[in-house]
Amino acid sequence: MSGDMSSPFLVSNSIASVSGDLAPQDAAWFRKIMSDCVLCPRACHADRLDGGVGYCGQTADIMAARASLHYWEEPCISGTSGSGTVFFSGCNLRCVFCQNHNIALGKAGRVITPEHLVKIFLQLQEQGANNINLVTPTHFLPQIVIALQQAKNQGLSIPIVYNTGSYESPEALRHLDGLVDIYLPDLKYFSPELSAAYSHAPDYFEIACAAIAEMYRQVLDPVMDPDTGLMQRGMIVRHLLLPGQAKDSKKILRYLHETYGDHIYISIMNQYTPLPQVADIEALNRTVTPEEYDRVLRFAERIGIEQGFRQEVPPVKALFRNLTSGDCDSLTVPLRSDNIRNPLPMPVLWFLQNFQSQTFWLPVFLFHKNR
Ligand code: SF4
Repeated sequence: MSGDMSSPFLVSNSIASVSGDLAPQDAAWFRKIMSDCVLCPRACHADRLDGGVGYCGQTADIMAARASLHYWEEPCISGTSGSGTVFFSGCNLRCVFCQNHNIALGKAGRVITPEHLVKIFLQLQEQGANNINLVTPTHFLPQIVIALQQAKNQGLSIPIVYNTGSYESPEALRHLDGLVDIYLPDLKYFSPELSAAYSHAPDYFEIACAAIAEMYRQVLDPVMDPDTGLMQRGMIVRHLLLPGQAKDSKKILRYLHETYGDHIYISIMNQYTPLPQVADIEALNRTVTPEEYDRVLRFAERIGIEQGFRQEVPPVKALFRNLTSGDCDSLTVPLRSDNIRNPLPMPVLWFLQNFQSQTFWLPVFLFHKNR
């Protein structure tokens, strides 16, 4: 679904209308950055208030593809009630293997106002969401700050999760200080060759590390609800193992562990699924083997990573098991990977992926309720 172009540049009016709610430096910065966008390290200088777009493909209007309760994040995020996810259209990385490439390319979603975004946040809270989970939010950071401030004024009280590919500017992230409770950043690549080839970002590792440092400065060590086990504050860094790239993964895990130790959670993911857009890229046109994943998990164990998650169920139905929970490896028990199931056969993967595309990525009722 394309954006509602009958009401372009809604956010410019919204920025003006709510600027009284914002700190003056925030309001001035928002207007400046949207008309000469250097919000993220791409530094496109697009005039997004005037309908221009940069690498992320998005004007100043908020475009979102999905809002719903989501049950397949890490257990301390989803819990049993689900995480209140809002998927934003467009992306400033656009990885070639992206599992949501229609959303990343802005081909799925619709334009909404910040006021509508506020309603979505509040409705997700009413539905029992454990948190608000902002997925791929980077290019809409100013609009999200506005919506979060309004929603909090109207009673939004559950934790806010910022779920990002980490190609972020620390200066922009500082505007989230005090608004975001949980950071859920990826650390995708160590190698500049990989990040250049797959995300057009040879400087990805340095940029992402600086961004993650700013995120940690804001939220510090994890805080869990002792009754529910849900994360209230803190950071989970995700790393998705790519086929044939176990060495790159090990460098990332070593960096994270040496830098942050047990002050963060690390989520090691094996859900990589080759989609049709990578059919011509031989290195990406297969799943991660159990042996590759096992090698990375054993490395994590060897260097002392104990606080994190691994995926038990292969692609698509990816569920997470808490390495620290009683029914799995505990903090004091080394990581074990000998009970990880084999990935599903390719035909089953394709079926599930298609099933997922048709079932989960359609616009959902939250949008309809607000029409
Ligand atoms: S947010 Fe978009 S337009 Fe702005 S610098 Fe990043 S990619 Fe470019």
